[in-house]
Amino acid sequence: MLTQAIVALSFVLVAFSLMMEGTLDANADSKLPDPIKAGVAEKLFRLDCGRSLANDESVWTPGENVGRSIEFSSTCWLIKHGNEWLLWDAGVPESAHNDPRGWSTLPKLIVYHLDKTLTDQLAEIGLKPRDIARVAISHTHGDHIGNVGLFPDSAIMMQRAEYSWINSPNGPNDNVNQLMALARELLGTPKNLQLIDGDTDVYGEGSVTLVSTPGHTPGHQSLLVHLKNSGFIILSGDVVHSEENFEKDRVPSLNTNKAESIASMEKIRQMIAMYKATLFINHDKKQTDKLQLLPAFYD
Ligand SMILES: [Zn+2]
Repeated sequence: MLTQAIVALSFVLVAFSLMMEGTLDANADSKLPDPIKAGVAEKLFRLDCGRSLANDESVWTPGENVGRSIEFSSTCWLIKHGNEWLLWDAGVPESAHNDPRGWSTLPKLIVYHLDKTLTDQLAEIGLKPRDIARVAISHTHGDHIGNVGLFPDSAIMMQRAEYSWINSPNGPNDNVNQLMALARELLGTPKNLQLIDGDTDVYGEGSVTLVSTPGHTPGHQSLLVHLKNSGFIILSGDVVHSEENFEKDRVPSLNTNKAESIASMEKIRQMIAMYKATLFINHDKKQTDKLQLLPAFYD
């Protein structure tokens, strides 16, 4: 009883201090879950959705690591909620599988390789693409939506701001324009596109929440997952690319908005405090290599 009271009180204090700082909306209207009352998803699986080699790390760490090569991981996540499956991000296209030349979103900058297909990894736990009810995507860069076409009957969930952006006129940055054109091509015209606005509680009980974190792209989002034993886990999308960038508040030069990127990293920091959450950083290969991989899972 006393422990519960202390936990409840500490939540109120944390929530109050976050509201006072004014950037995390923890009031009754917030779509972010109450950490005490939030429901749980059953299982969280990591899928290997590719790896990439970039020839100039400074694109992601402006002013530092100029001309240094860097290897990134690409990660998809599969969530079991009751009898329903939700896929978070769809990775590098399966057409790249075992192709020694690899595949690219920006050929002068980065090459992706795919060692395992998404379809084969789903099959390892007895699933087919049509078993996936929802595919939620962090943003529309090609390494995150490469296999959306495998899921023609699933609901494709993304922020409305992201969809509007890729269908808007070109801007001044050629790399960004190339990424927008590729996004339109890979996304196609999904039958069941669900455009959402801001933080969104997917199942209505706080177990899986889409969290608006713009800046990398205009409608970028991250995912907050609540599990019984593992607690709260935040799946980054590309709100940040490495633990070091998170510590140093560094914003990649390809991001569409620097101020929004910094505000979104701060939102994630406040959520880590509020939910005692663990942050899994999609492209941080050093971190990713230490995490469970399907068929193992978090629960
Ligand atoms: Zn990415």
